[in-house]
Amino acid sequence: MLTLPKNKFQPFFTDLMTKAVQQNHIFAGFNVFSLDDAYEIVKAAEKIGAPVMLMVNKLAVDLFPIDMWADALNMLTRHASVPVCGHLDHTTDLTVLERACKAGFDSVMFDGSQLPLEENIRQTRQVVELAHGLGVAVEAEIGAVGYSDGAGGAAYHAAKTDPAEAGRFARETGVDWLAVSIGNVHRMETQDAVINFDLLHEIERETEVPLVLHGSTGIKDGDMQKLLPTHVAKVNIGTALRMAFGNTLRQEFEKDAAAFDRSKLFRLPLQRIREEAEKKMTMLGCAGIIK
Ligand SMILES: [Zn+2]
Repeated sequence: MLTLPKNKFQPFFTDLMTKAVQQNHIFAGFNVFSLDDAYEIVKAAEKIGAPVMLMVNKLAVDLFPIDMWADALNMLTRHASVPVCGHLDHTTDLTVLERACKAGFDSVMFDGSQLPLEENIRQTRQVVELAHGLGVAVEAEIGAVGYSDGAGGAAYHAAKTDPAEAGRFARETGVDWLAVSIGNVHRMETQDAVINFDLLHEIERETEVPLVLHGSTGIKDGDMQKLLPTHVAKVNIGTALRMAFGNTLRQEFEKDAAAFDRSKLFRLPLQRIREEAEKKMTMLGCAGIIK
């Protein structure tokens, strides 16, 4: 018989998401690709006393199997002095989601954004039933957040969230957190997203479920400040950290084109990841939440 690992912080994190709405801060979910970048983010969170979410996406699952990710994230959680939520990002395959829930992820995201509304509702409800039965929280998407680099594929259809649909979706699926499309776009390298605050407020009138914004590297710092008192409880950040790492690594090679030692080459790039994560979490009002 399968013994399920204990999801130490899941109920705690769900509770924290609700409190984020009430107390005007926003949690950061960071995409991670290995143990070293994940650990830097945890160190940043510990330094400022912030709960944090480590997110594993499709690219990361191509690098390491999902069960290994669950073990790795749970190991980081056990050693951390702040709550760390291990999250599976954008997944469409229900078999993969079930495996992640059983392997010990704290939360999963089912992405039915490319499905017709009825089918998105039906499949999301299926994931919610399965995941909640295993003590795992579920994020789902209504509307569809676009990709600035075309990573969604040629057939990907981006669409702003319809507030009435968001309300119905939340009611009929029982989802814990709702990812919405209000001008945010994945993979932006500059802060050029045009956030539609009126649309956000319309969505807020339709549902009380905590909201999530993907593609937050592209959101202006000033807009992020304006998002703090809204129902947005988590923002996903990937590109900002990948840029911090990659651009610093390039500089390291420019200093010494013959360099080959991984531990030396990665020292500064990893430090930049930690600094960027700390900066983002501080800006989002997360510092000092955990005393
Ligand atoms: Zn996303």
